[in-house]
Amino acid sequence: MNSFHVRLCRLLVVKGRALSAAVTVSRRHSSSHRSVFHFYRSMATFGDQFPAKRPQKQTLRRVKTKESRSKRGDVHGPSTVYVQVVGAGSRDSPASLYVFSEFNRYLFNCGEGTQRLMQEHKLKAARLDNIFLTRLSWENVGGLSGMILTLKDTGVPECVLSGPPQLRNYLHAIKSFSGPLVDIKLSVRPYTEEMHRDETMTVYQVPIFAKSRSDRGRNSSKSGRSSPAQSSPKRDEFHHNGRVDESGERRVAARDASLVIAFVCKLHPKKGNFLVAQAKELGLPVGTAAIGPLITALKDGKTIVHDGKEIRPEQVCTPTDPGPVFIVVECPSEEFIEGVCTNQQLRRYQTGGAEDSAVLVVHMTPESVLETDQYKEWMERFPSTTEHLILNEQVCTVHNIRSHKIQTQLNMIHPEIFPELKAYKAKQPQAALHVPNVRAECLLKFQLRPVMEWQRDAVSSCSSEEFVKEASEVTNFLEEVEKCRRTCSAEERELSVPGEKYPEVVFLGTGSALPMKIRNVSGTLVNISPSQSLLLDCGEGTFGQLCRHYGDDVDDTLSKISTVFISHLHADHHTGLIKLLYQRQRALASLGRPFSPIYLVAPAQIMAWLGQYHDYCEEILSHFNHIPNRFLCDDAEVSKPKTHSFIQAMLKKNNLEEFRTCVVRHCKNAFACSFVHQSGWKLAFSGDTMPCDAFVNIGKNATLLIHEATLEDELEEEAVEKRHSTTSQAIGIGMKMNADFIMLNHFSQRYAKIPLFSEDFSDKVGISFDHMKICFRDFKILPKLIPALKTLFAEELEEMEERREKRELRNPRGSSNEVVSEQKMFRRSEVERGAKRDQEEEEEMHSIDTKRLKTS
Ligand SMILES: [Zn+2]
Ligand SMILES: [Zn+2]
Repeated sequence: MNSFHVRLCRLLVVKGRALSAAVTVSRRHSSSHRSVFHFYRSMATFGDQFPAKRPQKQTLRRVKTKESRSKRGDVHGPSTVYVQVVGAGSRDSPASLYVFSEFNRYLFNCGEGTQRLMQEHKLKAARLDNIFLTRLSWENVGGLSGMILTLKDTGVPECVLSGPPQLRNYLHAIKSFSGPLVDIKLSVRPYTEEMHRDETMTVYQVPIFAKSRSDRGRNSSKSGRSSPAQSSPKRDEFHHNGRVDESGERRVAARDASLVIAFVCKLHPKKGNFLVAQAKELGLPVGTAAIGPLITALKDGKTIVHDGKEIRPEQVCTPTDPGPVFIVVECPSEEFIEGVCTNQQLRRYQTGGAEDSAVLVVHMTPESVLETDQYKEWMERFPSTTEHLILNEQVCTVHNIRSHKIQTQLNMIHPEIFPELKAYKAKQPQAALHVPNVRAECLLKFQLRPVMEWQRDAVSSCSSEEFVKEASEVTNFLEEVEKCRRTCSAEERELSVPGEKYPEVVFLGTGSALPMKIRNVSGTLVNISPSQSLLLDCGEGTFGQLCRHYGDDVDDTLSKISTVFISHLHADHHTGLIKLLYQRQRALASLGRPFSPIYLVAPAQIMAWLGQYHDYCEEILSHFNHIPNRFLCDDAEVSKPKTHSFIQAMLKKNNLEEFRTCVVRHCKNAFACSFVHQSGWKLAFSGDTMPCDAFVNIGKNATLLIHEATLEDELEEEAVEKRHSTTSQAIGIGMKMNADFIMLNHFSQRYAKIPLFSEDFSDKVGISFDHMKICFRDFKILPKLIPALKTLFAEELEEMEERREKRELRNPRGSSNEVVSEQKMFRRSEVERGAKRDQEEEEEMHSIDTKRLKTS
């Protein structure tokens, strides 16, 4: 049988209206595909070291199954495969795809926030061993360092990155802050190796070069642009910084912004299913030993003779599925249109090509490219049965639902301190395309097997009314909110003159270790005046948080940031910096304001990372003027006149009298800072540290202290081991400092919603939440919010108290060596409560958080 029919059921729900259409696709059965199945990637081999017990068992089981599958020698393609949108390509959530089969999991692109979305939506990273990257741009690789650390902590033994060859340099560069990454075997499969084959599919890498590549060559200034779609700070600024020298030329040569990789993915064929009822009807010996060989023959497409009767395979088997093809293509700017649209390898999967045409093309393509005639015509060359999925800024979808939920509920307590989240809305209209297409939504699926169809069951709704209703049903919550309102307005009336609006502090990320659904990692924006802002730490996803906080005003906000302080080089404190710098440059250009570099107050060692990223990946050095943290320590001698002038300029820009740093008790080269404004207020920020006298010294009499409080009081030993502070230790430092007010942040992700309160809490202490916005006049109000907060999260607090008490009983002194049994208990208490949460996942994340704390 040479041809067969596949019913392609498209189930699309457009604005709540279900629309279904059945399309019949004719396809040639092609055995020629098999000839290319010669490449076999050897299975993962393991050393002795395993980071955790549970993952080890899982992984060994996986490897054994893999081996037994490959020993059978025949191809039993996967029976369930789907492509799922993770990040839909909106401004706050870069485009990424998760591909699932029962044998493998894949990720296509990994921008900032990808692992946070995967965690929230339960797309397990534990089985991710292949990541495909369409381009070496921060947009696509920004979340990769954090993802790799998580894969390592989860116990994934090996991960292969496919795409641009510069990924090797990228991996090398991230080791400058992550350490040697010995527990996970990382390798790069550049596009020159062409093909990846595993149990699920064969993936062909198709290199596409920008049009002007041959005209200008790799050494021209343009090839070093941060993004092909953007203009970069001028080369003369680069010269001005004195960085263009012989090595500078070498650096530019090592980058290649003119390359994107498309991926053609072909599922393995799957033999048809044996239809028992039909076989019985035809008199085949179903249920006896004799049926085995008959089924094998029939499934292999052979006609058999039974009881003198000829039985053809199509009478008792569903047809063999030769394996559909889907294509993932990024066309980031006009320069790549020609390359994509004339590419011969991609053309093979269009109408009249040498292969079966693609059933799905995923376009990571901006509207400006989609609306060109050439790209439109290229899309039209696929048959009408090909589905087109588009990921770009034009999408309209909410990704971080849990963050919206908690913010909506906190907003009920105080609408200004917990403002509602916003969404950035793209201004240009959607291109008018002549082919049917689907705009991406977070978690939208296209299933390839068993039935080809769009699936929206995972797409979750984000309804503020529901969130408000849920909170309103919490016992006593509305009463507490009412009380809180009354006390707050009484407090506000007492202020004879309305207090100053500035400085204003916006907490963008208040969790530690790794980004999770409710708390993102460190980032705190200090709006010094209506026109000047300073950022304290910049963990992965800080820009996304800014987008969700400021919506359409995010460009204006970015344009005001003149200074970024990085406390230390743990991934949860600085891996959002590069994106912030690129986006700030874009924002300035779009607002028509002149570009000027930011002042980057950061450990000197950050230059190893940024320098390597600049050398091999994208231009970044012209975006900032670096002031090493140690030059702001008391008694530091600033010998370089350039650094001296940067310091003076930074102080002037922010209207600051002084900016001091000190070495703290955390990892090597970890710093805290404090700064004094000309109007007299002082802010002190701890970064990550155990209680530290040097910090007390530079923070003396601070108006506001922001101090990390990673762990609860009873976990002091664990805090010492991981060199963090407990709640009471943080408050103690504030008291020693004589701070007017103390805000706690950097909570372990085990306190996702709310941390445990200690007896040391007073009316001078507040706890931070992501997207919380405070100014100094709110100090009186903040403690008044606590009863309402405690009521809203009563269940979580009770649960944590229970765990604490049980730990206490078991080990009166409170030890951190009890993490495993604590986790078991955590699970048990959850099950007893009948909680709906996915226990395994919570436990897994809890354990990763525990491990990662050592390096956060
Ligand atoms: Zn940290
Ligand atoms: Zn740290």
